[in-house]
Formats: sequence, C-alpha cells, structure tokens
Amino acid sequence: MEEQLKFTCGQCQTKFLDCIYWFDSLYYAKFDHRKIIPFCGPKCVDTWHKENNVRDWELRKQPYPKGEEWDRVMFLHPHMFQSND
Ligand SMILES: [Zn+2]
Repeated sequence: MEEQLKFTCGQCQTKFLDCIYWFDSLYYAKFDHRKIIPFCGPKCVDTWHKENNVRDWELRKQPYPKGEEWDRVMFLHPHMFQSND
C-alpha cells in the first residue's frame, strides 16, 4: 500500500493529513527567506509562538517581498516539506 504523504508538526512532530495552521515568515520583518512551518493544531501554534517569543518579532510592513519564493500561500501540501525531512 502506498503511504500517504503527511505533514510533520513543527512543534510536537506529530504526523497529520490536513494542515490549516502554519507559520509563515512572510509576515515577519526579520526573515529574508520564506519559511513555512506546519502545525497540527492551535495548541502547538501557541506553544511554538511562546517558545520563540514571536510576539516580540517585528511585523513586516507592506509592500511584502515579491517573487516566487514569496507567493501567497492558501493551502499547504505535504510534498512542499518533503525535502526538510
Ligand atoms: Zn503539534
């Protein structure tokens, strides 16, 4: 049987199928590269934000950076993260 591609939670490492919570470096000024981190749920988002003091990070101001790397992401697909495993 073919194994279905899954996301790995950036906080608890749980594998899961549908990703509706993620971190996106598009919205924070300190990142000069795109970084997207999937999370399995709001609890992990919250824990990760607290551990990384995300509330102290400066929000990126418009206009947001342009280019393929910075395309607006509406859905995540597990294959986007396979190279990170
Ligand atoms: Zn998690």
